[in-house]
Amino acid sequence: MKIIDGKLISAKLKEELKEEVEKLKEVGIVPGLAVIIVGNDPASKTYVNSKEKNAEKLGLYSVKHQLDEKISEEQLLKLIDDLNNDSKIHGILVQLPLPNHIDSKKVLNKISIEKDVDGFHPENVGKMIVGDKAFLPCTPNGVIKILEYENVEITGKHAVIIGRSNIVGKPMAALLLERNATVTVCHSKTKNLSEIVNLADIVVAAVGRPNFVNADMVKEGAVVIDVGINRVDGKLVGDVDFDSVKEKASLITPVPGGVGPMTIAMLMYNTIESAKRRGGI
Ligand code: NDP
Repeated sequence: MKIIDGKLISAKLKEELKEEVEKLKEVGIVPGLAVIIVGNDPASKTYVNSKEKNAEKLGLYSVKHQLDEKISEEQLLKLIDDLNNDSKIHGILVQLPLPNHIDSKKVLNKISIEKDVDGFHPENVGKMIVGDKAFLPCTPNGVIKILEYENVEITGKHAVIIGRSNIVGKPMAALLLERNATVTVCHSKTKNLSEIVNLADIVVAAVGRPNFVNADMVKEGAVVIDVGINRVDGKLVGDVDFDSVKEKASLITPVPGGVGPMTIAMLMYNTIESAKRRGGI
């Protein structure tokens, strides 16, 4: 069994990205990322601060818009419009979840697809599904980078994803299918979940329930990727019962220090990619 070091993989990727940013600066291009956060949710604030810090470390131009919880949908849409037209900005990210009085779909759809570095715009999602060049959603694409880094064979393997959200489960299925895996997607209505997960060569857990996947559910030698981030008594835990599952898995990601750091690295990757595209590089 090997524990995958997501921090190390993301650090290597960020090192490459930093060099790329330096080269872009030589030709007068500074990739710019705007992050919008509405309200004071502590978890969202932590994510946004980390994104901002990482952007600055890589030499990106980074702007944070911290907005009041009571901001109107119209005001938020106006800000996105302004950022869509701001030539210094190549990537716009709206931290989810948004307050209930704001229609998240409407907000995400407002982001110009050229600046949709989260890859959530339906047009980008459509492009991903048909295999066209698109901004790929950061978390599932980060999982793919982990599998590639660890030389995990994907072609012909049975991948079982637990979770079907638009942010993780569904795009994860599309990316694994694109790489020739046989993909099964499970969700809360799935029957015989344990038996299905037992068939998996690659398990991706994106459920949002602490320690949901236990050793009995996992086949000997499976690769286990834990996307979950749950807070239990102030501690971060994944969706996989790490201590028991690690005894059966051939490769496993920990929480924290697995998929999480890759998500941020992929956001930086998309922002730099966007700047390169606009600069015709
Ligand atoms: P959602 O709540 O949107 O989706 C959870 C999915 O799990 C749903 O499809 C749901 O099924 C399914 N599910 C819930 N309960 C069960 C069950 N008992 N059996 C089978 N399936 C079940 O979550 P997200 O996809 O947004 O996130 C998943 C986890 O990943 C969370 O812990 C989140 O914090 C984390 N996350 C981590 C990121 C990172 O950077 N590492 C980034 C994004 C998320 P149904 O559709 O039927 O309701």
